[in-house]
Amino acid sequence: MMDRIMPNRLDRGFELYQEEFESKAIEVLRSGWYVLGKEVELFEQEFAQYIGCKYCVGLASGLDALWIAFRILGIGVGDEVIVQGNTYIASVMGITMNGATPIFVEPDEYHNMDTCKIEEKITSKTKAILVVHLYGQAANMEEIVRISKKYELKVVEDCAQSHGAKYKGQITGTFGDIGCFSFYPSKNIGAFGDAGAITTNNKEIAEEFKVFRNYGSEKRYHNKIIGANSRLDELQAGLLRVRLSHASELQKEREELCVSYLDEVRNEKIILPSIRNHATSVWHQFVIRTKERERLIAYLEEHNIGSIIHYPIPPHLSEAYQYLNLTKGVLPITETFAQEVLSIPLYNGMKKEEQRYVIEKLNQFRG
Ligand SMILES: *Cc1c(COP(=O)(O)O)cnc(C)c1O
Repeated sequence: MMDRIMPNRLDRGFELYQEEFESKAIEVLRSGWYVLGKEVELFEQEFAQYIGCKYCVGLASGLDALWIAFRILGIGVGDEVIVQGNTYIASVMGITMNGATPIFVEPDEYHNMDTCKIEEKITSKTKAILVVHLYGQAANMEEIVRISKKYELKVVEDCAQSHGAKYKGQITGTFGDIGCFSFYPSKNIGAFGDAGAITTNNKEIAEEFKVFRNYGSEKRYHNKIIGANSRLDELQAGLLRVRLSHASELQKEREELCVSYLDEVRNEKIILPSIRNHATSVWHQFVIRTKERERLIAYLEEHNIGSIIHYPIPPHLSEAYQYLNLTKGVLPITETFAQEVLSIPLYNGMKKEEQRYVIEKLNQFRG
């Protein structure tokens, strides 16, 4: 039997460019400069260019990108932010850490915010839409931008899973006021520790982030505002530059793996993911749906194949958000997805025979 196939293998992504990662790490270690330096500056320039926007500011994590974004936009207590119900809880924390209230919208069949259901949630307190390009697929940005203009709302994009995904040829992270990125190791462009960034075309916003991330100081010891410590370090920035230089190859490999899954997985008990017209996915996860999830997980486990649920408990039903008083049943589509979604193995460096084995076992599943 084959070795256990894990849902994700970060070691494989490292091995692809091992020599480059190792020599960059040594270069930074020997430089004597470790926080906010030339690697960070170069990464910010290169990432802005990759995304196709004017500015990028490196931060310590994706969550920091989110909460600082709402802080800088002046959104807080008494304000409402529209967000989809089916997201990673960090999206919601970015809102609530500022005292603002998340207003949840159901997802569409592509697991993105259902844009037909946004307007009915808008009130006089609504200040922004937080759109999450979940699992790597760009949301319907044309509609979101149209609605935001009509009601004068800010748009923040959670791009933690969508590095490089496009809607009508435009890259996610450039549609709204601020694009929030995570480079957590398992993301499509991953660091070797925590890291994040924002993208924007607004010079003032970029400058405010630079001040905020460094204790609110522009000049050392001259603190203008109460900021935070959310600096990107030189080691992560240097390693991210290596990863970014291979972004298109890495993306092509994921794409090929997912096309094979789409072409070859054939099982009436499994619903495969689909892509919206005019959108692309960078396939952060390959998420299937099945009514027999517990049995499928156990069956895959018996055959030494790991799988993972993104995400089993929707934020509105998590203990952390009990105070919102949203009970089971208020978001039926979100809650059904939480019971049916399953991410199957996908990672850069996945071997053809590993994928063939996963496909064969999925096709043999009889429930
Ligand atoms: C990973 C992730 C985040 C948070 O990023 P961190 O770097 O882990 O703080 C936010 N939103 C989504 C959708 C994510 O997947």
